[in-house]
Amino acid sequence: MRAIVIGAGFGGLALAIRLQSAGIATTLLEGRDKPGGRAYVWREQGHVFDAGPTVITDPDALRELWSLSGQVMEQDVTLLPVSPFYRLLWSDGRRFDYTNDAAALEREIAAFNPADLDGYRRFHDYAERVYEEGYLRLGTVPFLKLGQMLRAAPALVKLEAYRSVHGIVARFIKDPHLRQAFSFHTLLVGGNPFSTSSIYALIHALERRGGVWFAQGGTNALVSGMVALFERLGGVLLLNARVARVEVEGPRAVGVTLADGTRIDADMVASNADVMHSYRDLLGGTRRGRTKAALLGRQRWSMSLFVVHFGLSKPPEGLAHHTVLFGPRYRELLNEIFRGATLAKDFSLYLHSPSVTDPSLAPPGMSTHYVLAPVPHLGRAAVDWAAEGEAYADRILSSLEERLIPGLRANLRVKRIFSPADFASELNAHHGSAFSVEPILTQSAWFRPHNRDRAIRNFYIVGAGTHPGAGIPGVVGSAKATAGVMLADAGAA
Ligand SMILES: Cc1cc2nc3c(=O)[nH]c(=O)nc-3n(C[C@H](O)[C@H](O)[C@H](O)COP(=O)(O)OP(=O)(O)OC[C@H]3O[C@@H](n4cnc5c(N)ncnc54)[C@H](O)[C@@H]3O)c2cc1C
Repeated sequence: MRAIVIGAGFGGLALAIRLQSAGIATTLLEGRDKPGGRAYVWREQGHVFDAGPTVITDPDALRELWSLSGQVMEQDVTLLPVSPFYRLLWSDGRRFDYTNDAAALEREIAAFNPADLDGYRRFHDYAERVYEEGYLRLGTVPFLKLGQMLRAAPALVKLEAYRSVHGIVARFIKDPHLRQAFSFHTLLVGGNPFSTSSIYALIHALERRGGVWFAQGGTNALVSGMVALFERLGGVLLLNARVARVEVEGPRAVGVTLADGTRIDADMVASNADVMHSYRDLLGGTRRGRTKAALLGRQRWSMSLFVVHFGLSKPPEGLAHHTVLFGPRYRELLNEIFRGATLAKDFSLYLHSPSVTDPSLAPPGMSTHYVLAPVPHLGRAAVDWAAEGEAYADRILSSLEERLIPGLRANLRVKRIFSPADFASELNAHHGSAFSVEPILTQSAWFRPHNRDRAIRNFYIVGAGTHPGAGIPGVVGSAKATAGVMLADAGAA
């Protein structure tokens, strides 16, 4: 039995490891020159710039990939704890350190509003319950049949999954700053806190239970560790191997053709590439591909991101590893990011400062960072990023200099921009979306593109565009769901 996985993002890598661990000869085809997908890496003048994910949660889900073959993750990857999880800063000067130390966290909450302590505890209980149901029970179940959704429905109704994360937080917590502190997490998986299902409050429990981690050497070291595991198992990774077409005969995929014309045959094909790209382009020669692409075109897609990577000759003092800098507006700004047709004048920022945890990511005595602003995807706001990117980056860096890093521009030695246009061209991301199909209730579980195609029954999807969704725990969970179906199908074949 031979399998092809298209795309070496976290989802593709995790699926390839699962298949190879189960004895299926797996070839992983990555279009770019390095694996990782959103977790790509650049190295410049001694600075290591991880392109995307920085917050590693649920390390046990990663460990499982090694334990499938009796190996241990620590052989390839070292995870370092991050504390505080996040530092939150508001434009009125207020600050909140979000930590895993329950007593310290409660002190932070009490400093904002002592009356919210009780509400926070009830919110935490709620997050635990949705974690049990939404993550542990349903997170890695492939929702292939409507019946599965119907069976899950009563529990989801009981947990009020039809409410938004912010709606649930606001029920328990009164202080407006604290409401932001406990609802912004959905942005990490591409969801607007005001429209993402309250099931995503599970992220709070996920972080509190499993911690927030960072891979020594950067997220790229986790990617390399997964590649090392896959190759030790006998799997084959081909880089610069852009798939142009999935070959289909009758109702079955029989292989792929690469952009250079090479044909590779397989018994099963899974795609970790953007789900729209997979159906519209890779299966564009089939009726099924065209029909599904038309359906996907009517779905709501997550926002994009504008990222500025930079290296400083002098490390700023007193920075946390992860800082969120809220702008003056919250709900209104999010509304413009998710629903608006133009780029808002203001922004909220996330600053990543990995050399705080791992100084080896910058030359001695220097520091490495990225700052990002969530922005509308290209299908909503057709911004000409090639023309506007530099000026937008300057505004972001000025704001950062004013609010947090005095002297930033005087100490700037390297800068690199990654815009929505790059998400589209480098990653084949539909509308340049950073997180694929938006995680609203009507696009989740059975309503999300399925882990196995309905018509081409040996064609599978893995990654952010299928169940359960974006984020490393999400796509690693999707690999478990997709591998379960593929292995069952392989056994039955
Ligand atoms: C800036 C940023 C920060 C983030 N921060 C976090 C975080 O802190 N924590 C977290 O958990 N999540 C975070 N996320 C989300 C997380 O990174 C993604 O949801 C996840 O990595 C997506 O993985 P994936 O498996 O869907 O594949 P992707 O990473 O999307 O990879 C898909 C791969 O397919 C390849 N490909 C596409 N087309 C073809 C083709 N035709 N042929 C061959 N290969 C092809 C691409 O080159 C790519 O390598 C962040 C995302 C971004 C963008």
